[in-house]
Amino acid sequence: MTQQLERENGSNEASTAGSVRVDAGVRPCPFCGGVKVSVHEGSTFRWRFAGCDECGANAGEIRCQTTGTGTKEEWEKDAECRALEEWNVRA
Ligand SMILES: [Zn+2]
Repeated sequence: MTQQLERENGSNEASTAGSVRVDAGVRPCPFCGGVKVSVHEGSTFRWRFAGCDECGANAGEIRCQTTGTGTKEEWEKDAECRALEEWNVRA
């Protein structure tokens, strides 16, 4: 069971764990055709993966940068992008 967190636009809540709804530039699920794809935290906080909200199909995990140059927001964005790329490769 995947926990779904709906967030209002403009919320100041820090986006740490949980799922991020994405729809721009994401291919439909190859299994169920669903277009609700979210990025989830992977096996540890360092990992992210994109998954279908409809049937639970997952793409491969990618590693999120956690140290070095940049900010946490930038790393999260980058990880999100790469998780979706991974999804698109499979989809
Ligand atoms: Zn699906």
